[in-house]
Amino acid sequence: NESTSANLANIDWDKQQGLIPAVVQNHLTGKVLMLGYMDKQALDKTLTTGLVTFYSRSKQRLWTKGEESGNTLNLVEIDIDCDNDTFLVQVIPQGPTCHLGRESCWQDSKAHTFIDNLTQLIASRKGQDSNSSYTASLFEKGTKRIAQKVGEEGLETALAAATNDKAELIDEASDLMYHLIVLLEDQGLSMADINRNLLERYNETN
Ligand code: AMP
Ligand code: ZN
Ligand code: ZN
Ligand code: ZN
Repeated sequence: NESTSANLANIDWDKQQGLIPAVVQNHLTGKVLMLGYMDKQALDKTLTTGLVTFYSRSKQRLWTKGEESGNTLNLVEIDIDCDNDTFLVQVIPQGPTCHLGRESCWQDSKAHTFIDNLTQLIASRKGQDSNSSYTASLFEKGTKRIAQKVGEEGLETALAAATNDKAELIDEASDLMYHLIVLLEDQGLSMADINRNLLERYNETN
């Protein structure tokens, strides 16, 4: 990656006394996994092997994450920050990253997209006053009505694309997404189930 290697030339090693803090993030989910430190050798080894390697301050040596557990971090990309003194390391983790067996070293590490937050708000409207909330009124009308709306909005989305109306397409796709989230919630499912399934499919072919 051109921009990465160009940026890496600017690293301010002196400012960090030779050890750059490296935040590790799951490239597929956005979850923050762990924090480590890289010296020049660790960075070199990471770039040449494609396996994220730190300088371990406790071991006082290079430490390739997963060297014992097999739970390696496969490098996707290293990004350097605005003032050249920290790394954001995008990875595909092989197994749990934390030595306690958790996916992330932070128990509550989440990668909330706006869709996730919207999904939560929509779910919270279940059983609320249907006069003051359109979402609540949809839940009250029930599955048939919600499913019908998804069908309608799907058709309107398709028509907007077919007539090449971009502004309309954005509006109708938004209608579709919203009503789809409502339908999933009505069925006891959520966008998290869809994300998981899409990720499984992705992992089967990539
Ligand atoms: P591993 O690199 O996964 O083979 O683990 C080797 C050792 O490194 C473990 O026994 C822990 O002491 C340490 N370790 C592993 N993963 C982490 C982590 N995410 N954060 C801090 N220390 C870790
Ligand atoms: Zn900085
Ligand atoms: Zn940990
Ligand atoms: Zn619509």
